[in-house]
Amino acid sequence: MTLGDAVADAEPLGDGAGGPPAMLRREARIDLAAISGNVRRLREIAGTPDAMVVVKANGYGHGSVPVARAALAGGATWLGVVDIAEALQLRDAGIEAPLLCWLHAADADFGSALDARIDVGVSSAEQLRAVAAAARDRGLVGAVHVKVDTGLGRNGVAENEWRAVFEHAAALELEGVVRIRGLFSHLANAGAEEDARQVAAFELALATAEVAGVRPELRHLASTAGAVRVPESRYDMVRLGIGVYGLSPFDDATSANLGLTPALTLVGGVVSVKRVPAGTGVSYGYSYRTTAEANLALVSLGYADGIPRLASNRAPVSINGRRYTVTGRIAMDQFVVDMGADTCEVGDDVVLFGDPETGVPSADEWAEAAETINYEIVTRLGGRIERRYVS
Ligand SMILES: *Cc1c(COP(=O)(O)O)cnc(C)c1O
Repeated sequence: MTLGDAVADAEPLGDGAGGPPAMLRREARIDLAAISGNVRRLREIAGTPDAMVVVKANGYGHGSVPVARAALAGGATWLGVVDIAEALQLRDAGIEAPLLCWLHAADADFGSALDARIDVGVSSAEQLRAVAAAARDRGLVGAVHVKVDTGLGRNGVAENEWRAVFEHAAALELEGVVRIRGLFSHLANAGAEEDARQVAAFELALATAEVAGVRPELRHLASTAGAVRVPESRYDMVRLGIGVYGLSPFDDATSANLGLTPALTLVGGVVSVKRVPAGTGVSYGYSYRTTAEANLALVSLGYADGIPRLASNRAPVSINGRRYTVTGRIAMDQFVVDMGADTCEVGDDVVLFGDPETGVPSADEWAEAAETINYEIVTRLGGRIERRYVS
């Protein structure tokens, strides 16, 4: 798989000859070369034999299949998703890479995962039993990664059950219905001391597994933050999410500081421009009034598209290379920008965020304006937004 293939397969939508006519512009432009480059960069930093790229939640809003292909082109050796349905989507798209999913419904269909050669993360004795039963039915060996809770307090086997679960796993391995390929956990990113405590707990889980006769070939604990800043958490494989999309998991480091390139540029279009007098109320509730005669540009994105309403009167946008602030309440389908004495044309691009190295606002600025994190800014983009792939 080359990046060229990834781009060719990504079926860019819209624009130009043959594209859909006269659509309101709601575009996420995704740079697949940036995705591949970010994977390369993070692999360099982590230096682990294996690297899983996490493409859950539709590839953090970037499109799981194109991102998966670009990630593999950049050197990912595994792909990770949340549930079996997300994993099957990748298999249905013809992606053959090793694949792990780790969050399951009570009645999850593990058989469908085994049939598609999808590794299953299990967080309980019940899940292990269910995977084994599905494997027995099919005469297959289920590839399992046991997830242990080392202090995040979400899924993962609780410490008081480690021994019993590993002994059960060892017995199922002997029977030949499962193979414990991995043992993993997830960091809480609660500071250096807590990281160290979780690494120690993970070591204890590995030792407990060993005593029970379980020797997983893939020990994995770190996500992007751990891969970059907690060397002891890297083990055999890191699971890379946010960094692959070019965004920083840290408050005190930008994408550029980490050598990463934000892959997604969110673009709306100018729908109208009008000149108004000083004192004009703008949008619902008049949370903004013009202070002078001004040109108001109306932009074709709103909270139905995942643009956070909380960013009203706060978040930056870029129009024709100049920065402005969203003015008035962000509405369901549109928002207004007071351009002051500047003006623009109907149809001009409005960049909400992208790679700040190119002079446009960053997802981090939008996160700050909406009192959230960059992860939420990209993953919340709505269903009306077209994803267009470039490289
Ligand atoms: C989402 C997720 C990751 C990726 O985390 P990032 O902070 O985005 O790198 C890794 N592991 C698990 C279990 C996850 O759920």
